[in-house]
Parts: sequence; structure tokens; C-alpha cells
Amino acid sequence: MELNAHIPSGPLSEKWDKHRFELKLVNPANKRKFEIIVIGTGLAGSSAAASLAELGYHVKIFCIQDSPRRAHSIAAQGGINAAKNYPNDGDSIQRLFYDTIKGGDFRAREANVYRLAQISNHIIDHCVALGVPFAREYGGLLANRSFGGAQVSRTFYARGQTGQQLLLGSYSALSRQIALGNVEMFTRREMMDLVVINDHAKGIIVRNLVTGKLERFGAHAVVLATGGYGNVFFLSTNAMNSNVSASWRSYLKGACFANPSFTQIHPTCIPVHGSFQSKLTLMSESLRNDGRVWVPKESKDKRLPKDIPESERLYYLEKKYPSFGNLVPRDVASRNAKEQCDAGRGVGETGYAVYLDFRDAIARDGKSTIEKKYGNLFQMYERITGENPYDVPMKIYPAVHYTMGGLWVDYNLMTTIPGLFALGEANFSDHGANRLGASALMQGLADGFFVIPYTIGNYLNGQSQPNIDTSHEAFKEAEVATNERIYRLMSIDGKRTVDDFHKSLGHIMWEYCGMARNESGLEQALSKLPELREEFWENLKLPGSSENFNQSLERAIRVADFMELGELMVLDALEREESCGCHFRQEYQTDENEALRNDDEFCYVSVWEHQEDDEPQLHTESLNFENVQLSQRSYK
Ligand SMILES: Cc1cc2nc3c(=O)[nH]c(=O)nc-3n(C[C@H](O)[C@H](O)[C@H](O)COP(=O)(O)OP(=O)(O)OC[C@H]3O[C@@H](n4cnc5c(N)ncnc54)[C@H](O)[C@@H]3O)c2cc1C
Repeated sequence: MELNAHIPSGPLSEKWDKHRFELKLVNPANKRKFEIIVIGTGLAGSSAAASLAELGYHVKIFCIQDSPRRAHSIAAQGGINAAKNYPNDGDSIQRLFYDTIKGGDFRAREANVYRLAQISNHIIDHCVALGVPFAREYGGLLANRSFGGAQVSRTFYARGQTGQQLLLGSYSALSRQIALGNVEMFTRREMMDLVVINDHAKGIIVRNLVTGKLERFGAHAVVLATGGYGNVFFLSTNAMNSNVSASWRSYLKGACFANPSFTQIHPTCIPVHGSFQSKLTLMSESLRNDGRVWVPKESKDKRLPKDIPESERLYYLEKKYPSFGNLVPRDVASRNAKEQCDAGRGVGETGYAVYLDFRDAIARDGKSTIEKKYGNLFQMYERITGENPYDVPMKIYPAVHYTMGGLWVDYNLMTTIPGLFALGEANFSDHGANRLGASALMQGLADGFFVIPYTIGNYLNGQSQPNIDTSHEAFKEAEVATNERIYRLMSIDGKRTVDDFHKSLGHIMWEYCGMARNESGLEQALSKLPELREEFWENLKLPGSSENFNQSLERAIRVADFMELGELMVLDALEREESCGCHFRQEYQTDENEALRNDDEFCYVSVWEHQEDDEPQLHTESLNFENVQLSQRSYK
């Protein structure tokens, strides 16, 4: 397979402009004749659907939830980055570009990341125009705060509810187009398969989650904005419905999967507190603007935090990384928390937690200032743990949060199947081996509002317009195969619930392909995963029927795909014999236990192609750095 990322030539700062000029356009009268399917109503999907409909295309949009507003994006807390430089603290497009490339440990494309930084400023203007109520300074300018991996304040926010406010903005734009009849909205529909005709994406099979019926939809292009797959680990901060199925089914139909093992572990989550838990809760990274991370210097110190004097506290991030302190990137903060806990200095009942302490910030700025900035997060923490973080430090521990891997896309966001595009967290995109905080919202909205409206036209320009005939054999075959899959799942009649299997899968993934990985563990995972998958198909118990609303069946369909994805993630982690960003292979570390890259051999994107009766085939996309110097990442 030949991978062509279609990166435009010319100076970095002019590539996107030049490309936009060179892209073919679709005549306004012809736009009406094209149908586009968008799957997903998170920030990426809703912004794409609204913009494409605004251009004149006819859009059909689908989501699992009963309302587009319940997409996982609603959960995003801390903020969205942009290089506006409002605080006048030295920011620029170049700096946002550099921080993001470095934050991803030099495993992302320069051209994509630069475009993202350029577009970041437009996103903020556009969202303000949509009515998003970003926090403001006294004088009226939009306020900023700091996130990890940056020494400037460039994060725009709406308290701890930035995702919610942004989604309400893009949902309003989407609703306007629904009301105008340019977008048809299909809720409670799950994409079950992609339909490919003559090697081009031409439609989808969806399951109506209320009636259980399978439905066919044809289009001239299909846009996946189906989010990330962190739930492969069972416990994660993702919404319960987040899944990989749309991407995975597309992978099985020929869309390559890139860097599947790059998983972000977020350092500030409420620690696991029992074996019956099905969800983990994030405490936004924004808290590290004011909260100080520490553990007792003595291991196994069981004293209450208030009884541990200042001299006996270890502010390990501030000590080890004086330049960035508590705002080191997530992979670095997570690994250091694990290191402290592994050394016996962890706190709380399990010893798998560190303190995030606001005592000094409250003394400095007053309780009401802290409350204004983080009130809803403090409230959420207290509701879950029963402890008041104004009085006692929060206890936090790393948890699975985001997946940098995803469907491989070129500069136009097109996958290796012509006519199939992937946006937002669903693509492997711009974050390399580690995403900086507040960059996912930026990327999702950049893809949806500002990239796809240009690039999809370039593809459609060459396509003929007759409506897609859903009685085509390819639709029939995809529907029959989906029906058979569902029938097979329903008829296993075994003994274990789907959640039980999911938990076992998550355990293997976390243990062997989580925050730290090594060859022997990954090999073990590769032998355990097929065994678990085999048992799943022999011993699954599903209640109810497939002909109506059945959430156990929905989960089983998703978990079956997670089981296959898990193996690809492990293969990917095993193949990459270096450490980079979140991918920490214990065999490859510096003397100071930082990730040790091997640029000579692994400066590439791993791109996996499904093979019908064989192991997936690895292709590589070389990463060429012409504008930044590859260096050992340092936050000291
Ligand atoms: C708790 C939390 C807090 C976060 N905070 C921040 C933050 O402050 N800043 C930041 O930049 N990032 C943050 N992130 C990351 C960010 O929220 C996500 O990466 C981003 O919202 C993903 O948006 P998306 O549009 O790609 O997908 P999603 O919002 O996940 O939307 C996916 C959509 O696809 C639909 N879907 C999925 N599969 C199917 C299918 N098979 N058929 C039909 N529909 C399907 C779903 O119904 C949904 O509508 C946070 C993440 C978490 C978990």
C-alpha cells in the first residue's frame, strides 16, 4: 500500500493557504446534489455537519444518544487552546506549534500541527460568534489559564464546563441547519458497518437502538467523528458509550489504523476505590494551575495530610522539573505519580494516590477566587469522595483518558478508503505520542469547522452525483453480515455478562499495555487476549432480545470490537522498540527515567492494515522534521 499524506510543499506557514487555493471547489449549485453522512455529534461531528450544511451539502448525521448534546464532548472540563496571546506573555502560532510537536514527543506531522496552531485563533472567534460564554477578565477580554507543557497561558475556558459550552455552541449551529432542512438528524442509531462500492465509501448500515432494526443509508462521502476508544481499558474517564466500533468496522473494510497503542493516561483523576466501579472521574488539569502535587517524604506515612509538616512533604514535580513544576505534560506527571506510589509514598487506603493541595492557593488568593475558578470541580470531587477539597487535599491518580491513535488520515483528513474521512479523536491526527491538555477540543473544532469544509470538496469534485442506490449488493452483504453477527452474539447463551468480559479485557490492557509496557508483558497479553476472545464467543450471556432496546447487546457489539482492537494495540506497542510520550517501554529510558526515543529507527507513524486471513500488516509513514530540531524532551 502506498501511503500519501498529501502534505503541501512550500514553507510551513504557507502550506495551508497554498493548499486551500489548490483544492478543487464544488460549484454551489452542485453542492445541493451531494449527500454526506456524518457519524457523531460531539464537537468534531456537530461542527462538521453544521459547516457542510451551511455550504449547501445535504447532510445526514447520526449518534448513539437520544440527543446530540449528550456526546462525550459535553464532559470536557478545562479548556481549549489558542495562540491569541491575550495575556501578552510571549505566545505565538509558532510557539503553540512547537509546544504541541514537542509535547507529542516528535511523533506528529509538522504540517498538520502548524495548521492546527494557525486555525486555533479562528476557532475562538467563531465560538464567540456562536455565543459560547468563555470566561472574561474584568475589562472584557477573554480570560486565559495555563495547561501542561506550556509556559504561557493560552487556554480559553468556561469554568470547568468548557466542553459543554462549546458543544452547546456547535449544537446551536447544527440545530439551525436541521431547522432549515439541510441536515437530517438520526438519534439512537449506531453505525454497524461501512459500505464500500468500487473501493469508495458509499454508505453505512446502522442499528436503530430502539427498535433493533437495521437500516441502510447511502451518501457520496462518509465522515466519522466517533470519538476515542479509551474504554478498551474498561475503566476510563470516557463516557460509557465511547467505543471503537465505527473505526474498527472501517478498519476491517480497508481503512488503516495508526499508532493504536498511543493512549493518554491523565494524571489527575479520582483514584479507583472499589472493584464494582465502572467509570473514573477526571479532575481537570486546570487544577494544576493552583494545586500543588505532593506525597509524604517517608514511605508508608499514614498521618493525615494536615499533620505532615512542610519539611516532610515532597513536592516531587516542583523539585524535579523546576521550569514547568506542576504543569509538566500529562505523560510526565502520570509516570512520576506512579513512581512515587511504587516507591511506597502513595497516600490513601490503597497507596495508589498522591495529593493535589490547594492550601497555599487559598491562603494566597482567598477561597472565593478559587471557588470562582474551580467551584464545580470541587463540588464534583466532594460529591464523589465525601471530602471537602477546600479543607483537605484532593487525592488523585492517573487514569486512561484519551487515545492519540485512530484511523490514519492524510492532510485532507481522508482515510485510506477514498470518500471516508475521520475527524476529532477518531483520527490519529495531530498529537503525536502525547496530547497536551486543552488540545483535543481545539483539534475537533479545527477539523469540523475549518478543515473538512475545504477538503471534502476536493474529493467530491471528482465524483458523479446520482443518488446512491441502497439496494446495491454491497449494502445487502453488509446488512446480512451485521445481522449474522448480532444473531451469533444473542445465541451464545453462556454464563458471563458482557461487563465481566469487558473488565477482564481492561485488566489485561491496563496491566500489560498501560502506563508502562515491556516486551515480556506485551507477549503475555498477546497470548491472553485470544483466549479471552475465544471464551467471549463461547460463554457470553446476553439477556433480552435484539428486536428492541437492549443495552447489553449494544455493549457486547462494542466489546467484541474492543477485544480485536486490544490485540492490535499490543502488537503496536510491541513493535515500537522505543519510548515516546505516553508509550513508555521500560526497556528504553534515560538515566533519569524519562522516555528514550529512537529517532533513527522509529521516527514514523505506525500504520496498520487489516489482512483477511493473516496478521495485520505494518506500514510506516516517515515523519520529516524540517522546522524543529529533534531533541530529548526536557521540562526541567
Ligand atoms: C472527562 C474529560 C474531560 C476532558 N476535558 C478536555 C478539555 O478540557 N480540553 C480538551 O481539549 N479536551 C478534553 N477532553 C478530551 C475531549 O473531550 C475529547 O477528545 C473530544 O471531546 C472528542 O470529541 P469528538 O467530537 O471527537 O468525539 P465525541 O465527543 O466522543 O463524540 C463521539 C460521537 O460519536 C457518536 N458515535 C460513536 N460511535 C458511534 C457509532 N458506532 N454510531 C453512531 N454514532 C456513534 C457518539 O454518539 C457521539 O455523538 C476531555 C475528555 C474527558 C474524558
